[in-house]
Amino acid sequence: MIVARTVAELRSHINSMKKANKEIGLVPTMGALHKGHTALVSAAQKLCDVVVVSIFVNPLQFGVSEDMDRYPRQEEKDIKLLEEMSVDIVYIPPLKEMYPEGFSLLLQTQAYHDILCASKRPGHFDGVATVVMKLFLQVQPSKAFFGEKDYQQLCIVRVLARDLDLDIRIFSVPTVREADGLAMSSRNALLTDHQRSVAVNIYQILELLAKKAKQGRSPIYYLAREGKNLLLSKGFSKVDYLEFRDAETLEEITNTIKRPSRIFVAAHLGSVRLIDNIEILP
Ligand code: AMP
Repeated sequence: MIVARTVAELRSHINSMKKANKEIGLVPTMGALHKGHTALVSAAQKLCDVVVVSIFVNPLQFGVSEDMDRYPRQEEKDIKLLEEMSVDIVYIPPLKEMYPEGFSLLLQTQAYHDILCASKRPGHFDGVATVVMKLFLQVQPSKAFFGEKDYQQLCIVRVLARDLDLDIRIFSVPTVREADGLAMSSRNALLTDHQRSVAVNIYQILELLAKKAKQGRSPIYYLAREGKNLLLSKGFSKVDYLEFRDAETLEEITNTIKRPSRIFVAAHLGSVRLIDNIEILP
């Protein structure tokens, strides 16, 4: 496996692979890899000749009071795991390589900018769009793979590809969960044992709400309120949102489910913020 740390190094490998007509797939990550990430890698390996996994904790997508410094890092372990999976290239640029002195560009996304995580983490998706676009230009993939776990991010990346006429197909991979249903996340490593036992309630409550929404006995706005109250009663310290939205347009649903939809949640356990979402089909 090639470990590239600079744009120049990466580009020389990409150029020779392009010359050999290899189809390149990109899996962007922030490291501390788990089975959610490896599901993206496996999906990429099925569809591409060459798979590039990037590991970069992107400061542009963290707010000043957020957990960038605490974000779990385990580079050696990640490299070993990717090597065992026969990944072709792991790209791990240092901060100064991605954002050299004087770097001054920021992509601004208008789509979905005032809902869900965008309204709670101002600037977050501009940082995501900027780093994803840089990775696209550096790696030049024809396919890129993102998880449904970060559904709003997935929607924004699709808009990025569409609005900038990128010749890159965006693939999504369903959320990989622990045996008890908790969505895998690098941030789960920050939970205490007690917080971990509370965290599972997110999935249980989402499942309960999805079942009730399908039965259609209560209006959706009522179920959303019920879900929030349940999370707080189970021990979450704060609920940023719990909302039912159209799976395609992300428009909020308040009454009944008529089209494929999703329930989105972001909730805090102490200083750890967890997000999740599940599908509801009418
Ligand atoms: P991250 O390292 O958290 O930035 O995530 C990198 C990619 O992995 C993103 O496309 C995420 O949506 C995806 N991802 C993270 N957790 C999961 C999961 N549990 N299941 C599927 N994909 C995931």
